[in-house]
Amino acid sequence: MKIRNPRNGQYDYILSVDSQETIQQKVRLLRSHYPSWASAHLESRINTLQDFATALEKSKEVLIEQLSIDTGRRKISQIEYQGAIGIIKGRCYSAPLMLKQQDQRTSVTSPTVTIGQQTIPYPVVGVISPWNFPLLLAMIDAVPALLAGCTVLLKASEVTPRFLDVLESCIEEVPALAQVFQLVKGGAEVGKAVVDHADVICFTGSTATGRKIAVRAAERLIPAFLEMGGKDAAIVLESADLDNAAIGILRSAAGATGQACQSLERIYVHQSVADDLIDALLQNISKVSFNDDYDKGGTMGPLIFEGQAQKIKSQLEDAVEKGATILSGGEIQNINGGLWMLPTIVTQVNHGMQLMQEETFGPVIPIMTFETIQQAIELANDSSFGLSGSVFSRDKVLATEVASQMEAGGISINDASLTNQVFDAEKNSFKESGMYGSRMGAEGLTRFLRKKAFLIQNEKAASIFTQEENAM
Ligand code: NAD
Repeated sequence: MKIRNPRNGQYDYILSVDSQETIQQKVRLLRSHYPSWASAHLESRINTLQDFATALEKSKEVLIEQLSIDTGRRKISQIEYQGAIGIIKGRCYSAPLMLKQQDQRTSVTSPTVTIGQQTIPYPVVGVISPWNFPLLLAMIDAVPALLAGCTVLLKASEVTPRFLDVLESCIEEVPALAQVFQLVKGGAEVGKAVVDHADVICFTGSTATGRKIAVRAAERLIPAFLEMGGKDAAIVLESADLDNAAIGILRSAAGATGQACQSLERIYVHQSVADDLIDALLQNISKVSFNDDYDKGGTMGPLIFEGQAQKIKSQLEDAVEKGATILSGGEIQNINGGLWMLPTIVTQVNHGMQLMQEETFGPVIPIMTFETIQQAIELANDSSFGLSGSVFSRDKVLATEVASQMEAGGISINDASLTNQVFDAEKNSFKESGMYGSRMGAEGLTRFLRKKAFLIQNEKAASIFTQEENAM
């Protein structure tokens, strides 16, 4: 596969795609090492993962360099690398507590029975990840699955595959890990093969692909944990600190050029403060510039995926045709072959526009006003997505009350996108943004374990034939 470079539009990298035979071989290898990995002491799995972190740290420069070429962004790649190391170290630290075995206990419903509980990891977890944070979103599921005692088959996005060779060599540096953590490379066909061979799937990507994976997983009767698209809303109440709201909204909506699942993509602001919020946003946007030349600096990276640029363009065209006004940005500029876009504020929008219904995945900030809080909540909930959201108000009690009525799994209060930095709060992704257990917090680990119960009878087994039938 020829892979495009997001900074210059050149197809300058060839990804060799794994054959079906290779994928099957890798799955066989994982299955053969599963019993010893699953039955090893947690301590030994933690040591292996810590050795992996050390291997990544040794390859830090080259890993960040490859990630930077993949995504066209250098600073964010450094942050992404730190985040991946943080996931490994943080999960290793908390795993002993989170995976603590339960003590035996007496059954409440049958007091003569003692209950013993065992957990059995799934043998092969298939992790399928997207291009927007290629390393982080692979590690976020792979690391807890490995610590839980599963083996992992990872299929990262074909849009950003350059970092995979470095990742693979870091895995190979830790022989115990190489037996239980394998990568397969390629596009949708390789992803499908992962779904066909794994025992459970962790998918991060678009809702359209997640739906296909859910169908195939249902046919195979295997669980599929899905983390998919979003159209996150912010509600800015009359009592908000508007400077703070503007900073939080801009960071969330335009940071990483809006290419994050939890980017704010819809802003609902009380009509009495809308002009002030827009002024504060425009003032902050005036400081933003393209980082098209690393030597000159600049704050915004390119759009990574050409196909996404086309979607952003057509959503904006649809909005303008239906009466929207663009107050800043709005253009996708081709600079030396890369595609670049400044934060784009759009007003006069309504829910009849694609821009307010479909995921944009770009630095576009559509703003609508509301009169009553009830109206704001209804607008925020008028979406097929339910990933996350924000509420801004100096009254934290009121903000929390509004947040409790929003149909989404993680709501930041007086900030935005905190779900991408707080990893110890359990949350689900609602509606078409996700399916099944929390990937954060303790459940992010325990979801990889099947529960087995030992039911120990402490008295003689009861015989049904010792009782008179008419007494039953
Ligand atoms: P995508 O759905 O196009 O691809 C994701 C992965 O699925 C890729 O590795 C791809 O090769 C693979 N794939 C494609 N078709 C497949 C199939 N039929 N079977 C198995 N695998 C298949 O998503 P993308 O464009 O790479 O990523 C952007 C999307 O990811 C956005 O919608 C974004 O919101 C979402 N996302 C969600 C989260 C989250 O945590 N909810 C985080 C980041 C990104």
